[in-house]
Amino acid sequence: MKRKLASISVDLDEVGCYGAIHGVAIQDGPALHAVYDRCVPRLVELFDAESIHATFFAIGSDLDHGSNRDIVASLHEAGHEIGNHSFHHHYDLSRRSADDIRDDIELGASTIHEVCGARPVGFRAPGYTINDTMFDVLEASGVEYDSSVFPCPSYYATKVAVLGLMALRGRRSQSIVDTPNLLRSPKQPYRVGRPYWRKGQGLLELPIGVTRWGLPYIGTSLVLWGDRGARALTRQILGQGLIHVELHGFDVADVALDGLQVLAPHRPDLKRPAAEKVSVIRTVIDMIRQAGYELVPLKEVARRFSEKSSP
Ligand SMILES: [Zn+2]
Repeated sequence: MKRKLASISVDLDEVGCYGAIHGVAIQDGPALHAVYDRCVPRLVELFDAESIHATFFAIGSDLDHGSNRDIVASLHEAGHEIGNHSFHHHYDLSRRSADDIRDDIELGASTIHEVCGARPVGFRAPGYTINDTMFDVLEASGVEYDSSVFPCPSYYATKVAVLGLMALRGRRSQSIVDTPNLLRSPKQPYRVGRPYWRKGQGLLELPIGVTRWGLPYIGTSLVLWGDRGARALTRQILGQGLIHVELHGFDVADVALDGLQVLAPHRPDLKRPAAEKVSVIRTVIDMIRQAGYELVPLKEVARRFSEKSSP
């Protein structure tokens, strides 16, 4: 009997992305680069200690900045997978033309190829928002899997509510809301059909984790709920064929150490110090391992899924 698989993926959205979501301007300075410069080393230290290879999704345009190239190249060297998180991280990428989508995804992939010497085989859409055109582009580009679908009712409802509230207060977010149909998508790996929330013969989708009770199994909720909450959420997801722990580098940001005071009023997760949040993620890893799961990068999940489904 093969062991059950679990994967940790980390979106490398830089601090500027959070400014865009919350409609807050972040001044130029070290705080703007806290994800690459301060959060990635915290996660790498944890993954090294736990002997885990994770999947990091990098935004192509971030690799223009200073040391980010070297950071991504060294993650790749160390055996972590580098996935494509688009070039510009346009939150409304799914609403743009097929040509714009193709250009952005291709530029993201070729930038990572240039930095790592290997073309990324996985893709994550900005803001988890994807559509059939994007799936067409991804299939034509030869990627092996997508990991963007997040069929989580409570996350969806919260996003609708937050964006509505911001609009009422006259604040603009660059984030957008997807069709509620996506909530019908399978919660475990599947080949997409048309529309993509149905099963078919298309590209392999490795969805973002949703617990048995329909709660979001992502870093933001794990660190926000703290040790007890994260244990409860993990108990709700143990047993699934694939456990996907989707983190953002920002999940281990520290308001004081990283100079992120300007975001503190908008981000309850910033109330907890980085050390506490790293410890929550360690707890989750321990629980998943004790339940008999093997932790591998997403591309390995994709490879084993394809082996299993081929005759
Ligand atoms: Zn992102």
